[in-house]
Amino acid sequence: MSYPIDELPDISHLGGEWTTATVRDCADGTPVEVGRAVFPDHEWPFEPGTCTWTRGAWYLDETLLLCMGCGCDGT
Ligand SMILES: [Zn+2]
Repeated sequence: MSYPIDELPDISHLGGEWTTATVRDCADGTPVEVGRAVFPDHEWPFEPGTCTWTRGAWYLDETLLLCMGCGCDGT
């Protein structure tokens, strides 16, 4: 699951901003557009399409889950 891209929470106070990325839905493989967090001082080790990480971290009082591999919203 993830937020609809027009309902992504504000991360500006974390120093980040949103771009979007197209990934394959893990349930049925159809391409879906998700938010991808970008922080100016941080580079994600993977691109969303080839990300193999399953570990995420919670932000914003545990209302936002970001993949630690590629920065995609995985809430
Ligand atoms: Zn990822």
